[in-house]
Amino acid sequence: MKIIHLSMECYPAAKAGGLGDVVGALPKYQNRLGFEASVCMPKYNTAWILKQKTEHVFQGVFVQYGEHRPFAIERVLNHDLGFELFLINLPGLFDRESIYIDQRTGRGFSDEIERNVGFQKAALTWIGQMEEMPAILHCHDHHTALVPFFINEAFDFEHMRSIATVLTIHNGMYQGGMPWSKLGVLPAFHPERGGLLEWEQHINSLACGIKTAWKVTTVSSGYMRELAMDARGLEMLFRMEYKKCSGLLNGIDNELWDPSTDSYLDNRLEGDLMEYKQANKASVEREYGLVPGKPLFTFIGRFAYEKGADLLPEIIADALFSGLDANFFILGSGDLTIQHQIGQLKTKFPERFNVEFAYNEPLSHRLYAGSDFLLMPSRVEPCGLNQLYALRYGAIPVVHAVGGLKDTVPDLRSGEGTGFAFAKLDANQIRSALFAAEELFRHSANFVAVLEKNRLIDHSWETATEQYIELYKEMLPNYSTEHVKS
Ligand code: ADP
Repeated sequence: MKIIHLSMECYPAAKAGGLGDVVGALPKYQNRLGFEASVCMPKYNTAWILKQKTEHVFQGVFVQYGEHRPFAIERVLNHDLGFELFLINLPGLFDRESIYIDQRTGRGFSDEIERNVGFQKAALTWIGQMEEMPAILHCHDHHTALVPFFINEAFDFEHMRSIATVLTIHNGMYQGGMPWSKLGVLPAFHPERGGLLEWEQHINSLACGIKTAWKVTTVSSGYMRELAMDARGLEMLFRMEYKKCSGLLNGIDNELWDPSTDSYLDNRLEGDLMEYKQANKASVEREYGLVPGKPLFTFIGRFAYEKGADLLPEIIADALFSGLDANFFILGSGDLTIQHQIGQLKTKFPERFNVEFAYNEPLSHRLYAGSDFLLMPSRVEPCGLNQLYALRYGAIPVVHAVGGLKDTVPDLRSGEGTGFAFAKLDANQIRSALFAAEELFRHSANFVAVLEKNRLIDHSWETATEQYIELYKEMLPNYSTEHVKS
């Protein structure tokens, strides 16, 4: 069964967060189960993409605002990925270093709508002329959520109607809204069907995808339930379409994220778990001037409201002023006000706190390996991959119990648990979780027992991919999946 994933991110070509991790792993594991899965994404000027050899496979053109826009499809000649990667070379729209953020302004690109729609039109123009079209188009997030509408309703693509479509929502906060004045950017479609594009007087890409895709998934069942209650105005739509919606928990790529082989680590896990932890922690403490031997709490992530990054200065100051005998480290970037407030902690707590304002993949691996605890005070967390990496690398998650965090981090204080979870983002609850964590750290036998147990939990894509087989079989009951191992 041929599947094409359409996505703005795919690790290692371009990653801004969890979307990149998922699209860089899921197709590889689908292929191992007998599918023929590939990825189509924009050709950015990222360091990884610029290094690749590619082969030209298609030259096409689409119309935008009445003008012809030429594009090319290039196949990446790299056998390490585990899937075919196709890049859309769209001059003027994607030949930039960054995926979403204009580095000159620190905000999203002003031509985001043209980029998203251009990507979808180019992808469908290419796929629509294939001799063997895919059985499934798997769309990821709002950037590709208009695809199901285009292939049902746009004159140029209606010959593709029999292709089954899945929309996976990695983050429902971003919806790809646009005013009706932007209508000219879309391909011409059956006008009586225009209502499918609309939600609350605007064109809303995500809402349109939810209405028109064959199946809608999100990345944990906890998040699916939350979306039906609060989805930035789309909650009613989720409730209306609940029959085709499901929450499939993300996996992690256990081969890429393996502390015994991870090339970003100077100290790999070779035998003794605590030796590996201590060596990695000592290297972070040395490099960032932290007092040695204290429990280390780390935050890794985007400085965004949904991640609760704005709460970090208060959480950390409150904990240290209340006598928590620990160090804190933050790796992240984003909102400049949050960045400024986090920066002030450095002066307040030298030797107890440090920060790296960056997106730094190698350092993130070193921190999962070197931290004792991973702090995630997220307001919204569709799945969260950080806590899954932490479990595998031996850092105990300390989290706000929302979305995927609620599904994957039961509280150790209530019996069987994997970490510490606070039900509310309330100062007392957070402080008490941090102190409970510190106490566990002091009882080293118990601490090691939790790390050992957490490491055995299977969150791999090997297992998680099977949910997608079931979903695809449900959509295409007549399609032969005999060769697919289930
Ligand atoms: P998001 O909402 O950002 O997609 P996820 O938990 O799903 O959150 O995925 C986050 C991914 O991005 C993880 O692989 C995490 O390690 C990585 N990440 C986030 N911020 C940084 C950073 N500053 N440097 C390196 N990796 C980061």
